[in-house]
Amino acid sequence: MAPEDTGISPRRRLPSVDEALKAPEAAAALAKHGRTAMVDALRAAIAEFRAKGEGASAADAANAATMRLDKADRPRLRAVHNLTGTILHTNLGRALLAEAAIDAATAAMRSAVALEYDLSTGKRGERDDVVREILCKLTGAEDATVVNNNAAAVLLCLNAIGAGKETIVSRGELIEIGGAFRMPDIMARAGTNLVEIGTTNRTHAKDYAGAIGERTALLMKVHTSNYRIQGFVKEVSPREVAEIAHARGLPMLNDLGSGTLIDLDGYGLAHEPTVAEAVAEGADLVTFSGDKLLGGPQTGFIVGKKALIEQINRNPMKRALRVDKMRLAALEATLRLYLNPEKLAERLPTMRLIARPVAEIEAVAARIAGPIGQVLGARFAVAPIQCESQVGSGAMPLSVLKSAGVSIKGRPLDALAAALRELPVPVIGRLEDGALVLDCRCLEDEPAFLANFANLVLP
Ligand SMILES: *Cc1c(COP(=O)(O)O)cnc(C)c1O
Repeated sequence: MAPEDTGISPRRRLPSVDEALKAPEAAAALAKHGRTAMVDALRAAIAEFRAKGEGASAADAANAATMRLDKADRPRLRAVHNLTGTILHTNLGRALLAEAAIDAATAAMRSAVALEYDLSTGKRGERDDVVREILCKLTGAEDATVVNNNAAAVLLCLNAIGAGKETIVSRGELIEIGGAFRMPDIMARAGTNLVEIGTTNRTHAKDYAGAIGERTALLMKVHTSNYRIQGFVKEVSPREVAEIAHARGLPMLNDLGSGTLIDLDGYGLAHEPTVAEAVAEGADLVTFSGDKLLGGPQTGFIVGKKALIEQINRNPMKRALRVDKMRLAALEATLRLYLNPEKLAERLPTMRLIARPVAEIEAVAARIAGPIGQVLGARFAVAPIQCESQVGSGAMPLSVLKSAGVSIKGRPLDALAAALRELPVPVIGRLEDGALVLDCRCLEDEPAFLANFANLVLP
């Protein structure tokens, strides 16, 4: 019977859940998500049609329910296109891992591994043994340990060495890294008394020497990763702080922040202290991150004097801050790449993206500007532009890298940025001078990017 013959308004006709479940359109979602979830989704979909005063067939309801389930099934931790121009974007997960690291982590996930097991003796081994030797080789340190991240590395060092005693730091280095990581707060949580010396812009050797007393446990240097103080400034070099500490029989801790295992001068960047330099300058402990310039998984390193590392490893907090087998596997594979520095820019995405030639990035921008313009239509002006990328994660705040991108102007720009975030693979750009800029430095898979972009629903 045709709907108009029923006497009920055709717009109001709605299927029952049972009818919709039997529709061929429901089959795929039923198989994928199961009956319980499909019934719930059908109820919700039919209720939505009813609320809008719309009619629907069983097929319409099945399709609407399928869309609901598929949307809810999308992972919350979504892959995105990072076109922000910030290579190590903390909010976007920092370093992209090398293929060797991905393979190692995947293999470790699938299998039992000799994580704390000494295969030569058949006895219990140490988790740190996986990376200790290579870390010592790459940094020149006597010993090394690995924890959850660099914040944890700093916390653990301060607690293991400085708890109940005093730690001396320059006022010019009392950094906030972001979130709640502020050096004075970390010191308080570590149970060490912060002794601030010098002033914001100037700290002298005599300030360190004068602050040392019976209760002093260590002298600390913090690399001012994410800012620079310029002008009338005086800072005491790590070497000198280490000498002052050693003259009084005290250890010196140098928190490098990003830290790098190789000299980056060859990559067109300002000099960032290497871990080996920090060790050679006399620091007894050096802390640094695994997922900043190093280009590995989130981890924190402590390298330095054997006796101190042993003291740190005996601290119960170490157990709470340790890393799992997946990260350790990825980390070991990443560190191994550093044994062949000539191939590093090829194999390690962080270095590849830092070293990417501008001409290559310009060519990407020139190629994708046209197709982007076609999708956006006449309301938006799209043009390839020159722009500047940065390393990110607080590494080298003053260094910018010449880059290229696509500039989008027009209205409404905020709504367009939101629409880009709604794409199957969300595209994240940056708003700059009244334009939405898509920096192409980190765009390597153009066909995938353009195929994804074609799904854009214009605001
Ligand atoms: C980034 C940074 C930290 C924190 O490192 P995470 O790996 O992010 O935990 C600590 N100290 C300095 C100087 C830093 O730059």
